[in-house]
Formats: sequence, C-alpha cells, structure tokens
Amino acid sequence: MSIIARTDASILLLTVLLARAPAIPATEEESAPAPAASVEQLPQAESVDLEDPVPVAEPEPAVEAAPPAVEPAPPAAETAAAPPLVLLGREVRPGTATRLSWSPAQSFEGLASPTPVLVVHGAKPGPVLCLTAALHGDEINGIEIVRRVLYAIEPQDLSGSVIGVPIVNMQGFQRGSRYLPDRRDLNRYFPGYEKGSAAARIAHSFFNEVIQYCSALIDLHTGSFDRTNLPQLRADLSNQAVLDLTQGFGATTILHSAGAEGTLRRSATERGIPAVTVEAGGPVRLQEDAIRHSVKSVKTLMNHLGMVDTRRNWGAREPVYYESRWVRADSGGILQSAVKLGERVDQDERLGTVINPITNVSTDILSPFPGRVLGMAYDQVVMPGYAAYHIGINAPLEELPIEEPDAPVDTPPEQTEAEPATESPADDDVEEDLQAPQEAPVDEPEFD
Ligand SMILES: [Zn+2]
Repeated sequence: MSIIARTDASILLLTVLLARAPAIPATEEESAPAPAASVEQLPQAESVDLEDPVPVAEPEPAVEAAPPAVEPAPPAAETAAAPPLVLLGREVRPGTATRLSWSPAQSFEGLASPTPVLVVHGAKPGPVLCLTAALHGDEINGIEIVRRVLYAIEPQDLSGSVIGVPIVNMQGFQRGSRYLPDRRDLNRYFPGYEKGSAAARIAHSFFNEVIQYCSALIDLHTGSFDRTNLPQLRADLSNQAVLDLTQGFGATTILHSAGAEGTLRRSATERGIPAVTVEAGGPVRLQEDAIRHSVKSVKTLMNHLGMVDTRRNWGAREPVYYESRWVRADSGGILQSAVKLGERVDQDERLGTVINPITNVSTDILSPFPGRVLGMAYDQVVMPGYAAYHIGINAPLEELPIEEPDAPVDTPPEQTEAEPATESPADDDVEEDLQAPQEAPVDEPEFD
C-alpha cells in the first residue's frame, strides 16, 4: 500500500482502519517515522486550551518527552461519535485540542526546531480541514490566520477536525527568509522524495506525516518580494472537488490556476485532497485587513463544510478570474502607483509611473487589459522588467481556455521566447526567484 494512494474515503475512516491494522510492515519506501508500535499503544495527546501560552520554564526537548495525558482517559465524550484522531504518534481524543509537533527527520539532531502542529479534534465526526502557513518563511500573515482560526474553535462544537501548521518552513522563518537554508523553495518539492535533496525530504516528511490525513487543504501565502496581494483564492477550477471547495469561502476573489509542479496545493489535489491557496497581503509584515478577511473566509468555509454552525454575512460575491497577467515596468527608477489593490482598471488606464531620479524622466505603466488589480508592488526602486501589477482580466469564461497551463505566460507574445516562463510571478505559488536569480540554487537540477 502506498501511503499516498488515498481514496476519497473519509480520513477518519482511514485512521480507524490504520488503528485496526497495526501490523502494516514498514517497507523501505513507506517508512514514515511513525513508530511501528500498534496504534493502541500510542500515547494520548494532552488536551490543552490552545489559547493558553505554552509555559516556557519547562524545557520540552523532544516529541517523545512530551508528558502523557494528564487526565485519566475518559470514555469518548458523551455526544461523541467521532473516533480518536491518530496523528504524529499521538492519539487525539474527540472533543479536545492539542499541540503536537512535526520535525523533518533529516536535519542535524538539535538543529531542527520542531514545528508546532495544532489540532482541534471535534466531538462529532466530519472532514479533516488542514491549514498550512509559512511554507515561505517570510510570509507571516498566514501564521496569524492559523492562530486566530484554531484558537477560536470550541472542540465540543466542532464536527470533524482542524489541523493547523502555522510555520511549515521553520528554518526559513527563523532566518526571515522565503527559502530553505540552501535557497531552495520548499513549495516546489511536494510531494517530496525521501532520498532527494533536503527540500525533497522535508516535503516528503511533511506530506506523509500530516498532509495525507487531510480531507481538504488551505495553504496560506502572501505576495513575494515587496509585492502584496488582494485576499484571493488560487485554485484549479477544472477539478470539481476543488471547485466545490472554493464555493465556501464567502465573497473572496478567485483566480483559476492549476499551480506549479511541486507546489503543496497541486500535489495534494493530484492525490485526491482538494486544495486551494489563499493569498493575502505581502511578506514580512502583518496586515490586519488581509488577515481579518482570510480568517472570516476560513470560518465561512468551516460552516459550508458542516463543521461549525456559525453563519457569517458577506456582500455580493466576488468575480472569478480565469486569466491574469503581470504588467512589468519597462524602465528603471522609483515606482509610484496610481492604483490601489483591488481597484478595477480600464484598458490603457495608468497603473503607476516610474520616475528616473537621475534624469527626471517619467514613464507611465498602463494596463494592457481591462480588469482588476489582484496584486501589486509596493512603491519602491524597480529595475526594467520588474513585475509590478498583477491584473485579473475581465473576460467571460467561454472566451477563455480553462485548460490553459497554470502559469500564464506573462509577457507579450513577441517576448516569450526570450524569457523563460518560470520567471512569471503570475502566481505566488508559481513564482521563481525572479528578484534574485544570482542567488538561486546553483545545483538546482535534481530528479526530485
Ligand atoms: Zn508563498
């Protein structure tokens, strides 16, 4: 049995099946670090109020050292039909919340900081919704979104489970970097490979220890490198399950894209776990508006999935964009934008102006399309070619090829052969390091 060969059967059912079949041989290929011991012997996860700060006085060196459940294990909560949730070597009782940890196995002992995995396992059965953030270590809005969503859930009122991983790329986060220490983009290596590069191994570990237990996934991102995004979903709308998922987020703009090869979103979707990316704001900073919108979106989705019974009011639905383009600066200088994020623009409307501070020559950047500003650069010094405005294009669906590859070619046709498609920042989760090509990994080619 391949660990990634999941079916559409409920994850909870899967966990039950796993729990009843402890004798699965751990072959070389599927030797997830989960202990081979029978699941019945798994320590129960401590029931905690996630909002309570973790006491700092008690050093808690390793997962194994975590104390066993302090309370005597009660029978499943009186209303509970949900079985325990087995994750990361722990058994989480229905109607409780806990803080587990995931640690990619291949790091130096002592150098890998375990990543917290927050779990709220509802008293009643239902889907397992997963939230992941900071795959890019400098994207902190998502960290706060996970915190607000998870801490607000009352386990007794929840049907199903919510798993929140606020900082997937802990090494990048600690260095304030988008990337892993070797400059690799973790979000290009899913579902990973246990014998591959460090990035591929981390991806493999995370996918197999956490992601495969999700029945739906929200991967939280922001714009990259001094750009900010209107809160929006990126989703492969040609996939029915993904399309259904996107209908639950309230009035949130949706941009169709299949996602680049190796992204967590695409890998999960390809393995039958419908997944979307939420893009909200820019990196490095906390942006209250983007966070608040996203938290409300996720809570609305939980209601849509029948996990909670709390309705939220939204205005009119936001449009779906099936196509988008990046508009680049053609001259270098200081960019001063004339538009705001989310603004509707006409064709040939001025998006901003690049002013050369040496010559005082001003060059306007015009929108080649009618549409909406889905993402944009902050005012800053730009080089010629800098992708400054991401425009969602107004066009009826029937005029657009939905089967188009996910990474829209973001350059006019006459330039395409000169510029590799990978330079397109059209999708944050598609983006390569276009700002710092000289810093890109030099040993990139690997068969991961
Ligand atoms: Zn990102």
